[in-house]
Amino acid sequence: MSESEAKAAFRAVRFADNGGEPFCPHCGADAVYEFKSRAIFKCKACEKQFSLTSGTIFASRKLYFADILTAIALFVNGVNGVAALRLSRELCINYRTAFVLTHKLREVFGAMATAEQLTGVVEIDGAVVGGSKRLGNIGNKGKSPRTPKNGKERNVVSLRERGQGGRTLTFVVGHEKDALGAILKHVHSSATVVTDEAAHWNVLHLHFDKVHHVNHSQEWSQRNGVHTNIVESLNSRLRRNHRGVHHRISPQYLHAYAAEVAWREDFRRTSNGQQFMMVLGGAARQPISRDWKGYWQRRGERPPKQPRERTPRPEPIVLDFRPRV
Ligand SMILES: [Zn+2]
Repeated sequence: MSESEAKAAFRAVRFADNGGEPFCPHCGADAVYEFKSRAIFKCKACEKQFSLTSGTIFASRKLYFADILTAIALFVNGVNGVAALRLSRELCINYRTAFVLTHKLREVFGAMATAEQLTGVVEIDGAVVGGSKRLGNIGNKGKSPRTPKNGKERNVVSLRERGQGGRTLTFVVGHEKDALGAILKHVHSSATVVTDEAAHWNVLHLHFDKVHHVNHSQEWSQRNGVHTNIVESLNSRLRRNHRGVHHRISPQYLHAYAAEVAWREDFRRTSNGQQFMMVLGGAARQPISRDWKGYWQRRGERPPKQPRERTPRPEPIVLDFRPRV
């Protein structure tokens, strides 16, 4: 795609709500002037100028449209995720540009999470991420088979609707039992809930009529079809994303990676062309990112400049070389 073709494609998606014709992102009016000399528009109603990306997650972009579209295509093609370093090499862009771009796309994935309550059979399980204690030279020899934790671990609790078209929601909490509020909010009370044998899930019996547990120390799946294998498959993808692609995930942004993995899992059977259009359409409607706009310039994070206090100049030392009489 040439740059003008990419721009035309982006324009069609950006203004899809108005049949591809530009409208003002400030007041919504569709009567606009189009500048011939520059790629900007001016609203006839509020007289504000705007560009193709104004008010979207790509606002203040410096990348070419062709690069943005290619980045989305490469990003959706990664089954377990795409590392920013890889994207920066493939597109010949700076690593920091690629890092912020992938995080903006993760915000789009997060915004695409379903707002409706999950129904039918909903599997619930948590996956511990990070917080492994560094074992010294001797390692874990003769101790518990589980790697000891340092208390910084986080838990990604996933709610997964079973069946075709089922949706997934992820929440980052300190411990699995802290996810109860999110479960009650996002799972319909008529749903059948399936969890593992952990004792803190017993509280679900108070809120749902149909709750089943599978005891993983005995079996993975009961004969009557009670299992949590579908949500375990999501956890597996999350671990591959963490260990295989990114190697390290900041706990601050773990929710974004979890949302990305949930989206990839939900739409894994969708063609990459459709996935591309979903993400591009979502990005064109996603407002400017509070976390990622001007990230490398640390905009908003820096405290306001204080006038510097002048330190009083020390008294000059006067050396007296006069001969003493
Ligand atoms: Zn306007």
